[in-house]
Amino acid sequence: KQADQALQAAKQTGKNKLVTYHPVLSPQPASSVEMETELRKAILENQLILYYQPRLELSTGKIICLEALVRWNHPKLGMIPPNEFIPLAEESGLILPLGEWVLREACLQKVRWLEAGILDYQVAVNVSPCQFQDENFSDKAIHIIEQTGINPAYLEFEITESSIMQNMENTIAVLEKLCKKGISISIDDFGIGYSSLNYLKHFPIHCLKIDRSFVKNIHSNKDDLAITNAIIHLGHALNVQVVAEGVEELSQLEILRETTCTTIQGYLLSPPVSVYEIEQSFHQYDNR
Ligand code: C2E
Ligand code: CA
Ligand code: CA
Ligand code: CA
Repeated sequence: KQADQALQAAKQTGKNKLVTYHPVLSPQPASSVEMETELRKAILENQLILYYQPRLELSTGKIICLEALVRWNHPKLGMIPPNEFIPLAEESGLILPLGEWVLREACLQKVRWLEAGILDYQVAVNVSPCQFQDENFSDKAIHIIEQTGINPAYLEFEITESSIMQNMENTIAVLEKLCKKGISISIDDFGIGYSSLNYLKHFPIHCLKIDRSFVKNIHSNKDDLAITNAIIHLGHALNVQVVAEGVEELSQLEILRETTCTTIQGYLLSPPVSVYEIEQSFHQYDNR
């Protein structure tokens, strides 16, 4: 019931609309060299901005986490979605400074909310496979955590399966180091990356995020429902949180409830929104 209230209220604030990106003005995409130069500048000149999408716990109706999702607020082209510049950042190596910027900004934002006494939720940050493979990743992350003064218990890293599987021994060492610090780890896009489930035994993991492609048709496709169900039960058996991503419709939510899914994210509750909007829309759920 509380979850319904949360959904209702999210609707009433009128902030539940889909994010519409400004269409790219120039019909020709800039060359990737130009884009790279501009992206480098964007990181230095604070043109990047974090949006946040809430994660809702179904049993309590509480928001428990905000996922930080980066956008590029380009002075001429408007708001550019991550799919249009993250791949370039990964190819060019700019993902390392970009990823550090994202982590630092998310930590600083969390500290601001904490100081303001609002939005007492975890913050989840996406970690690109390139970042995760960087041998200095954990040291850099821990350095940023110490610099910003965030309590690492508030921090979650979202890592994809493929990124974890690249170098198993190294992965275990890195994850254990982060885990010891108190950071939570979730597996993003779970189910599409890698067929082996063996790694789940060895890695300290707190959460599985069921990829949106499975959730999309759970109300109409038996196979997608079966896979979603299996992941949810796997999560229960492993004693980790399970998040259904991309929940857009009530019919999906109803089915997820029946399958005993613990948490959801998706447009049904809210798309990723600016800091201002998240403060306006979700302030009222604090300390319930
Ligand atoms: P992701 O981590 O899987 O993030 C979820 C994406 O699904 C987000 O797209 C979000 O807006 C979208 N989404 C959420 N709910 C719904 C829904 O109900 N329906 C539909 N159709 N979509 C939904 P976004 O923000 O455009 O990000 C796309 C991808 O870019 C992310 O996928 C992630 O892989 C990457 N990304 C975003 N921010 C960062 C970042 O800071 N660092 C890195 N390394 N990657 C990032
Ligand atoms: Ca994610
Ligand atoms: Ca995902
Ligand atoms: Ca993804």
